[in-house]
Amino acid sequence: MSMQKRLLLFLGAPGSGKGTLAQRCVKDLSYDQLSTGNLCREHIAHGTEIGKNIDLALKSGKLIDDGLVTCMVTEWLAQNPAKIHIILDGYPRTVIQAEAFDKFVDLQEHQPLIVRLKISEQAVIDRLTLRMVCSEKGCQAVYSLVDGSGCQPERENVCDVCESPLIKRADDEIVAIKHRLKLYSTHEQQLLDFYNAQGYEIVDLDAVQPTEAIFCEFKQRVHG
Ligand code: ADP
Ligand code: AMP
Repeated sequence: MSMQKRLLLFLGAPGSGKGTLAQRCVKDLSYDQLSTGNLCREHIAHGTEIGKNIDLALKSGKLIDDGLVTCMVTEWLAQNPAKIHIILDGYPRTVIQAEAFDKFVDLQEHQPLIVRLKISEQAVIDRLTLRMVCSEKGCQAVYSLVDGSGCQPERENVCDVCESPLIKRADDEIVAIKHRLKLYSTHEQQLLDFYNAQGYEIVDLDAVQPTEAIFCEFKQRVHG
């Protein structure tokens, strides 16, 4: 892997498989993943002031404040200056965040690339209703109960990584799922328009494929 810094922005509907692909890149290709959703859930689990303020928004599938989430990302980047290949999983999510990103990131140094995971709305509803996650907030490994998904845990309801119990996410119930999908579709086109206008490169991946096939496509078309 080259030592040229690279920032990948994973864009895709909730449940499109951003976190799953990012984790695979961490494990097999030495990427680092910054998931703003995971950061939010860590704040909530630790009962921080931020956590108390965002708890309700997360449960009901609303987005949190643009400034707050941008602060989380800039702080993480400042604390991790030596990271070379970074995946931003779930950020930017609105044009306001994308504009902020465009200002704070050194575009020459990081060469940002948008990786869009494309999938139908019904397919993500099916996935999210059967998603399980590790209850240990430092882990948050993601699994699926779908037979043949390739994402099932080895032991029923036990995390393969840290052996903590698996739980359903509070926002993976149908009302919050539909709300999140609606928000995503509102913001997706605006984000794409912004990225196109700014000249960002965008790679579309077919997220309906099995995890192994998506990872292969990623290696060929993105990782190079
Ligand atoms: P996101 O991070 O985009 O919200 P996740 O990575 O959490 O999505 O994946 C959503 C659900 O779909 C999880 O239950 C995960 O195990 C499952 N999943 C991820 N990728 C695939 C795939 N290619 N095929 C089938 N199921 C998948
Ligand atoms: P995710 O884990 O990516 O599905 O995100 C879970 C939740 O965290 C979202 O529904 C939002 O409430 C919050 N969140 C994560 N990333 C962002 C973001 N970039 N902007 C606003 N809210 C976010």
